[in-house]
Amino acid sequence: MSEDLRIKKLRGSGGFVIAQVTDEQQSKGNLGGPDLFLAPIGRLDVESIKKYTCNTCDKEYEGSPKIEYENPNEEVAENLILAERGQYICTICGSPIAEYREFKKQNELGDVGNAKPIEMQTEIGQEVMNEVQQQSDDQYHEFDK
Ligand SMILES: [Zn+2]
Repeated sequence: MSEDLRIKKLRGSGGFVIAQVTDEQQSKGNLGGPDLFLAPIGRLDVESIKKYTCNTCDKEYEGSPKIEYENPNEEVAENLILAERGQYICTICGSPIAEYREFKKQNELGDVGNAKPIEMQTEIGQEVMNEVQQQSDDQYHEFDK
């Protein structure tokens, strides 16, 4: 085995998998306790999953659970994109072993350097527009009297 890959138990809400993980994946999955969790790691390469245990079946199986995922790329909050959501599913009974969501900051996507100043300019432009609108409304009322 190479130095930066090791076999670890990764817990999900409905079971766990035994998989080969990198140092980076291991540190992502470590939430401070002794256990490692699948959710913060996200989608593993199915090739790296050796076996898994399904709590619903109460059994251990060879190989990987089925991983179903989609890439909605929808904005869930300001500057926060839901890039991917997925599930590890028991291939025998169909119960979820683990779920995960991967978020991206919007300004980490694409051409970051250009996107932000344009956005700020637009906001400032909007404020100026509102002020102008306000002034012309006032003037209109002045004429009305
Ligand atoms: Zn199962």
